[in-house]
Order: sequence, then C-alpha cells, then structure tokens
Amino acid sequence: MCAERRHLAGELNISFAALTPLERLQALVDRAGGPVVFTTSLGIEDQMITHLIFSSDLPILVKTLDTGRLFPETYALWRETEEKYGRRIKALYPQADALEALVNDQGIDGFYYAPEFRKNCCSVRKVEPLARALAGAAGWVTGLRRDQSANRSDMDFVSFDGARGLIKANPIFDWTRDAIVGFTVEQGIPVNALHAKNFLSIGCAPCTRAIRPGEPERAGRWWWEEETKRECGLHVDDAGRPIRNDAHRPARADAAFERLPQ
Ligand code: SF4
Repeated sequence: MCAERRHLAGELNISFAALTPLERLQALVDRAGGPVVFTTSLGIEDQMITHLIFSSDLPILVKTLDTGRLFPETYALWRETEEKYGRRIKALYPQADALEALVNDQGIDGFYYAPEFRKNCCSVRKVEPLARALAGAAGWVTGLRRDQSANRSDMDFVSFDGARGLIKANPIFDWTRDAIVGFTVEQGIPVNALHAKNFLSIGCAPCTRAIRPGEPERAGRWWWEEETKRECGLHVDDAGRPIRNDAHRPARADAAFERLPQ
C-alpha cells in the first residue's frame, strides 16, 4: 500500500502543476483510493480550501483540532463558516486523561517555561488528535504555501508522508498570500478578524502574537523560543522528524491583509 501511494504521489505531482486548486482537490479525490481529510486551522489559506470543498460539495472530510486554547475570533469564524456553507467542520479534542496529566504536571501555561513543556503541550493538544483525524485516510489536504517559510520553498505539491503512510497534498502551494487575500475578498469567504490586526499565522491564543512590519510571516508563533526549536510536530519528514518553523524568511506580503474588511 505504501509503495503504491508513494508512486501515486509522484504521478499526481507531475500533473498537479497545470491544474487549478479546485481541480487539484478533485484529482486527489479521484485518485487517492480512499478517504481524503482536510485539516483546517481556520487561517486564511485554509478558509480558501474549505470554500472550494464546501461550495463544490467535494467528498472531503473537513476537520479541525480544537486545542481548547484558540482565540475567541477563531471560534466565531468556525461558527460563521458552518452557518455560511451549511456544513459541519468536525472537531478533534485532546484526550481528557492526557490533558489533565499535562496541566497537573507542568501548569496551565507551562509552555512558556521550557521548549520540552511546549512540545508536550503541542503533542497532547495537537499531534495526538491529528493522528486520530487522519486515521484511515488515504489523502491529507493541507493549506501549506511555498512562500510561508524557507523550509517550505522547495517542497513538492504532493508528497508521500512516509511516517503516516498517506498522500499529502497542498492545493494552494504555489499561491501567494496576496493572491489568496484577493480570492477571499472576491468570493466573500469569511476570514479570521485577527488577520486584519497583523496576525498572519494564527494558532493557539497564548502562543500567537501579531507581527510587526517587516517581521517574518511566522515570527508571531512561539516567539519566546529559539527559532531552531519552533516546530509544532504536525508536519514531519519522511522519517517522522518534525519539520521546524523557519522564521528567517522575510514576510513577502504582510501588507496584503490591509485589503481585508476591517
Ligand atoms: Fe499548547 Fe501553545 Fe502548542 Fe497550543 S500552540 S498546543 S497552547 S504549546
């Protein structure tokens, strides 16, 4: 099965480039040979993909990881999106026992005190729920973009996630932030109100801040840690090693959000 999926990823990769994002999603559904799951963080890239899936009624399961620490604005957007499209975004929650043990051991905001504590929190609140979200899936859709960070600049459109044994597809991989903002405005797609306040990449509330002009796109995530330790553990390489967040790359279009409704 793994060899077949690895081969299919290569084939899709060749044909993917000439397609639109919607056609890429359709091609993935047609060829994956099993369920396809999209995990959304409700960021602007993911809202564009959710729009494509819901408005074209594609048979892709849309799921989100509710860490319990999201911004109120993110929960409001979640509700607004379900109301607009009349579809449910399925939620995955941390395991109660593991969460209780984590908080009782390292405190409610223990992630500020040591990188290991932060990784423990991400592991309980995000990585383990992601594994359940993807269980049984043949394909995984993400909203990764090539220009988000240096370590994403040479990633393929489609890859085989060897650690999870599935095809990972990034249908808007070659879209710029500016193009995505333009698309969301044109299509009336709801986006997180925090984007208009310079939150470019939005995750958990205690671990996300607005960026300042000229700062890298993902500088607002885990800003108190050394850059080399900032991986969240959701995206891994073929050997299962976390791909780290690379904040060195300059933001290319942090002014793009000025076009969003305030
Ligand atoms: Fe915990 Fe912060 Fe990771 Fe969210 S981003 S899971 S609050 S450490």
